[in-house]
Amino acid sequence: MAIDTPKVMLSEEQILQRVDELAVEISKDYAEKGEIVLVGVLKGAFIFLADLSRRLTIPRHIEFIAVASYEHGSVPTGAVRLVMDVRASIEDKHVLIVEDIVDTGHTLHYLIDMLKTRNPASVRTCALLHKEHNTDVEVNVDYLGFSIGDEWVVGYGLDYAEQGRSFPYIGSVQPDDQ
Ligand code: 5GP
Repeated sequence: MAIDTPKVMLSEEQILQRVDELAVEISKDYAEKGEIVLVGVLKGAFIFLADLSRRLTIPRHIEFIAVASYEHGSVPTGAVRLVMDVRASIEDKHVLIVEDIVDTGHTLHYLIDMLKTRNPASVRTCALLHKEHNTDVEVNVDYLGFSIGDEWVVGYGLDYAEQGRSFPYIGSVQPDDQ
């Protein structure tokens, strides 16, 4: 599938305006807490994390984590496995997981549970996008950019088969298998 002409869902201006608002809210909430550890979920969250972290006015430490979904054939099973871990200890730290998009909720649920076993001071979640109607497991998104419908989206770090990550906007595409 060629994805060079996705339907624009969120313009660059809309995204950056919302990232500004999220950064203000997060900076306010953590102002008294000292350093925050931002855990970006690779690969999709790398641009969101870069823009968000530069707008925060509080001390922050950047970490990355990568996960993959277990599949049965090409069908996702909902189970998630760790592919790359954070490098620093998060014990007694205030952790904010930064995710590109929450779909069924399995990825975020796994990450929250896993990071909580390491005795952080707190774990909260920030996601740019949430497909709320697709939720399989309830997860609390503390800081949400936009709620969207059930469409495959690309751009601003999100891909379709590694295409489209560098688009400055978020657009929807029709995958071949749907
Ligand atoms: P969940 O575990 O919540 O079902 O899925 C979360 C992950 O699925 C996201 O981190 C992302 O990698 C992928 N994902 C879900 N929906 C989309 C989408 O519309 N576009 C892209 N690029 N990735 C998606």
